[in-house]
Amino acid sequence: ETLTAVICGGGNAAHVMTGLASSRENVDIRVLDVFSDEAERWTKTLGADPLLLTVNHPDGTHDEVRGKPSMITNDASKAVPGASLIIFAVPAFAHESYFEAIKPYLKPNTTIVGMPGQPGFEFQCFSILKDIAPECCVVAFEGLPWAARISEFGRAVTVLSTKDFLGCVVIKGKSNVGPDPMKPVQYLLGPHPVAQIYHNFLEPTLNTKSIMHPPIMYGTWHEWDGQPLDSKPLFYQGLTAEAAELMSGMSDELIATAREISRKKPEFNLDGVGHLFDWFKLIYKDEIKDKSSLLTALQTNSAFNGLLHPMKETPDGKFLPDFTYRYMTEDVPFGVVVLKGISEIAGVATPVTDKVLAWSQKMIGKEYIVGDKLCGKDVATSRAPQRYGYKTLDDFDILL
Ligand code: NAD
Repeated sequence: ETLTAVICGGGNAAHVMTGLASSRENVDIRVLDVFSDEAERWTKTLGADPLLLTVNHPDGTHDEVRGKPSMITNDASKAVPGASLIIFAVPAFAHESYFEAIKPYLKPNTTIVGMPGQPGFEFQCFSILKDIAPECCVVAFEGLPWAARISEFGRAVTVLSTKDFLGCVVIKGKSNVGPDPMKPVQYLLGPHPVAQIYHNFLEPTLNTKSIMHPPIMYGTWHEWDGQPLDSKPLFYQGLTAEAAELMSGMSDELIATAREISRKKPEFNLDGVGHLFDWFKLIYKDEIKDKSSLLTALQTNSAFNGLLHPMKETPDGKFLPDFTYRYMTEDVPFGVVVLKGISEIAGVATPVTDKVLAWSQKMIGKEYIVGDKLCGKDVATSRAPQRYGYKTLDDFDILL
């Protein structure tokens, strides 16, 4: 039987997923790209050729993988009918446009995959897809399976590295997608990463890495005098003690939130929620030189060597911090704000998160919190549960 899947997006992730999926046997892979004129450009650029994936391996060798989708379109009425699997491979800010695009054509028992999902994916999915979402299977990966860069738009992409394992959530609801909804997803991904299923959506959400970038930005820039710099500062190697302390404090607040939710609602098993420092030591055990604290672990992780702050160049060759970069514009509304919303519903105070959020929202010109309450006008464009009408922990039951 042919596996018909739609890959949504047109960036790095969508290129890799399209190439990999199309290289498998017995598949019909369709690309849905609703952004600007990308679908048309991609179709023209590719012509009759397959997409080329260069997949790098840790030992320095590489493979070439080729695959050709059956269509690349901006028209969901062409892409969605007949598909059993829809994979979102776009940044979180673009998810809304894809939920809206697929909604009119979606049938029960479709599997919808966020790759990655990012905090709030489930709230948004169940809100936009209302009646149909509980009849579908919703999967959300906690990260992207690969580090990847397009080398030639529409034609070639390089997979710099592939994760061995990747956590995901499966919300099967009332759907009837078969005993193992992950089987077709894993088939398209190939042997790696191996998908590891969390107990429920709150586990990866409360473990999110979205709490890393905003406190680092805070640490470096909250006392900045506004003057352009001669060079771009190091992002991790230049980490301040204050930033590491804030990051750790935010992680503590998420653990407190998890404890409180499990206490009030034991059906939410949140044993998998842990501290960022422990996760970090585990994942980068061979790369970190000094594991004595979160600060030193971040400063001495060779995987982060040379990474710089996102900066904009001025006409005279100097640099200003770029607060429009995804470290702020993605990790705040689709990260920290969602977490703040969950803690608030759980009744857990979050003074450290509030401190970072109050500064971050100012830098991106938004208002999410007022004092320590998530009631600012821009909650309406975030993925906080409050935006979608979730008020109590019982409201989360539908996502179990
Ligand atoms: P990307 O920057 O390549 O995405 C760009 C694409 O997003 C565009 O090509 C377009 O298709 C779409 N897009 C842009 N603006 C849009 C708009 N206004 N409306 C609709 N669509 C729009 O992103 P990516 O590298 O593919 O990453 C996808 C996700 O994976 C992100 O959340 C990213 O943080 C995460 N991630 C990426 C990598 C990586 O190596 N690329 C690694 C880890 C995590």
